[in-house]
Amino acid sequence: MNWYDSLFPHLAAMGQERWAEQLQVTLSESQLLQRYGDMPGWLSALQALPELHPSLIALQDNVTIGSGADLGAVTRKELIAGLQAFHPWRKGPYSFFGIDIDTEWRSDWKWARLLPHIQPLAGRRVLDVGCGNGYHGWRMRGAGADFVLGIEPFLVSVMQFQVMQRYLRDPRHHVIPIGIEDVPPNPACFDSVFSMGVLYHRRSPLDHLLELKGCLRPGGELILETLIVEGEQETIFMPPGRYAKMRNVWFLPSIAALTLWLQRCGFTEIACVDATRTTCEEQRATEWMRFESLADFLDPDDGGKTMEGHPAPLRAIFTATKP
Ligand code: SAH
Repeated sequence: MNWYDSLFPHLAAMGQERWAEQLQVTLSESQLLQRYGDMPGWLSALQALPELHPSLIALQDNVTIGSGADLGAVTRKELIAGLQAFHPWRKGPYSFFGIDIDTEWRSDWKWARLLPHIQPLAGRRVLDVGCGNGYHGWRMRGAGADFVLGIEPFLVSVMQFQVMQRYLRDPRHHVIPIGIEDVPPNPACFDSVFSMGVLYHRRSPLDHLLELKGCLRPGGELILETLIVEGEQETIFMPPGRYAKMRNVWFLPSIAALTLWLQRCGFTEIACVDATRTTCEEQRATEWMRFESLADFLDPDDGGKTMEGHPAPLRAIFTATKP
């Protein structure tokens, strides 16, 4: 397993020699095998995927890897079975050797909403916190980002990224199985830091914002996407129990409250560039994600409410600068 060989020199070149050394241990094969009991199963699922050479790779308008014509003797059915071993596919969609991986989320819609509003990614070094299987990281590379590091504690997502990497072999895009809490304090080396769909999972949201700020170089841009509620600066909703069946949801601020949080954390040029209600077209069960999805989390009689009676998911995208 040499997934991360090209990561360490990159981090070192960004002035992060100590972090690179530390990761060389944390991400070594022996440590990963020790930490994740199911790692051998994932490794054989990866091994079982066919050798294929994509005749095309497109990352700009969508994520397309290869075409059906590249399959040769490999049947579509075999490849679909190999990919289904990595169920549930939540973030995408991917077009994979002619197979459409129709994921739970239309992550491309979120990308389309934010792209016109952020600093152009060409040449930038990016950190994507809670990157899932790396879908947006591919879009960042498609938009010209020089280097993308995704961090994602959920192992299945990290393995889905390895499925893509097996065919894309991109030395400038990595997804590593760590959480934001494992990043050393103040690396201050990324031009852009994304945190999308993570803030409401953090018990201390202001500390999360400060951690993100610590990752940015001065002048760097934060792109923050999170669940919000309607209301004034005083409005911050904390669900008393589950929210849309999720157990780990803590704070849902209003746009004004989140603006204040960002201000108090020392960000400048704060802008809310989008607020969109999540629809059952954007998040739904598919043959690639066969568990419950948004339609099962909403009040069947009132789509404006979650099944617990809370305001239905409304998500906002913010941009802000580290001075
Ligand atoms: N950013 C992607 C995925 C959002 S889902 C998108 O916008 O589509 C949120 C992700 O954050 C999940 O994959 C979850 O595993 C991850 N996550 C949860 N806690 C985290 C933490 N402490 N550090 C980093 N990522 C975390």
